[in-house]
Amino acid sequence: MNHFEYRKGELFAEEVPVRKLAEEYGTPLYVYSASTIRRHFKAFDSAFDGLAHMTCFSVKANSNIGVLRLMAEMGGGVDIVSGGELYRALKAGVPGEKIVYSGVGKKAHEIREALEADILMFNVESMPELERINDIALRMGKVARVSFRINPDVDPKTHPYISTGMKKNKFGLDIEHSRIAYALAQELPGIEPIGIDCHIGSQLTTIEPFLEALQKILKFYKELQAMGMDIRYLDLGGGLGITYDQEEPPHPEVFGKALSDAIKDLPLTLILEPGRVIAGNMGILVTEAQYLKSTPSKNFVIVDAAMNDLVRPALYQSFHGIGEVVQHGRAPQMYDVVGPICESSDFLARDRELPEIRQGELLAVFSAGAYGFTMASNYNSRPRTAELIVDGDKVTVARRRETYEDLVALEL
Ligand SMILES: *Cc1c(COP(=O)(O)O)cnc(C)c1O
Repeated sequence: MNHFEYRKGELFAEEVPVRKLAEEYGTPLYVYSASTIRRHFKAFDSAFDGLAHMTCFSVKANSNIGVLRLMAEMGGGVDIVSGGELYRALKAGVPGEKIVYSGVGKKAHEIREALEADILMFNVESMPELERINDIALRMGKVARVSFRINPDVDPKTHPYISTGMKKNKFGLDIEHSRIAYALAQELPGIEPIGIDCHIGSQLTTIEPFLEALQKILKFYKELQAMGMDIRYLDLGGGLGITYDQEEPPHPEVFGKALSDAIKDLPLTLILEPGRVIAGNMGILVTEAQYLKSTPSKNFVIVDAAMNDLVRPALYQSFHGIGEVVQHGRAPQMYDVVGPICESSDFLARDRELPEIRQGELLAVFSAGAYGFTMASNYNSRPRTAELIVDGDKVTVARRRETYEDLVALEL
């Protein structure tokens, strides 16, 4: 459920007509719904109410400080994957003790910054990373809390680019190496191993791969207990999918119950790192039709949003719903919805049936709140869009539109 709905043929973001937002702030434009963020966060978080747990929003899904602040206000933590995301999270008021740090390539300065912020833990993905964290922690007179990211070799049955827990992926350590890693961690004076972690992929639409991974992790957890390790945190990552098109992912409640049942008697605090399931359907990308163009094989609607604004269709061939901002009730036609960028991969939809569209009309691209703006670039020297947060009838510019001066500001 989200708070974008048609009222008398006109799309509203909460209490505000999207047409008005486009008129005032221009297009292309990202519009987020604060009530939807709150609703999704609560639905997810409360699915684990019976357990000691912490919901750490995955910052890479949507890193706008305004969005992160909404998470922080609800008591959420964050999962970060870079020093830049740490900086944003701290700016948004997320306390260090609610931050976990994942990623295969943490640089020395990023580790230092995270130790300065006294984050809850590093999710360590290799032995050399462990050694680097130990060295830096010792030099700073600190002890770094860590978990190891286990690669459980489970097929999440999602797009290959967002599968992360299979043997061939770069992520985590297999169980064999994890044994050695924990044994070493126990010896290192700058390291305190406190958790186990895994994240098997994104946009999962069934629970089975999560449960399969969990069984493997729990078996390993028992081994660690037998080794005398004091493991208090179980981080199961993110990955729960959403409906873009026809997908029917499990409701968070069902997901929560399945996981909770498996671990409820263990002395563990569960950490979850949802991104897409909270942010995906809280945002739309609004765009204006510039030209209609028909060729012998296609009808193109050329819009002012492009792959630099929303790369998911080009990168993952992913589906995004598209609808008129003001419905005119015209007969449907087949369209390719494409942007102005000089690449044939620059499309938002292909062979899509939409009501006949005319020049100057507005379209909304749905489910654009996660991996939308965060993956945007300046390709073709296109200034990045503004981001708005609508809360009831209140509109906040969470990020202003970039200008041409912004485009060249860093070039000396
Ligand atoms: C991307 C990522 C997530 C979030 O994944 P979603 O599919 O958006 O829930 C969580 N944890 C880690 C380590 C990630 O890389």
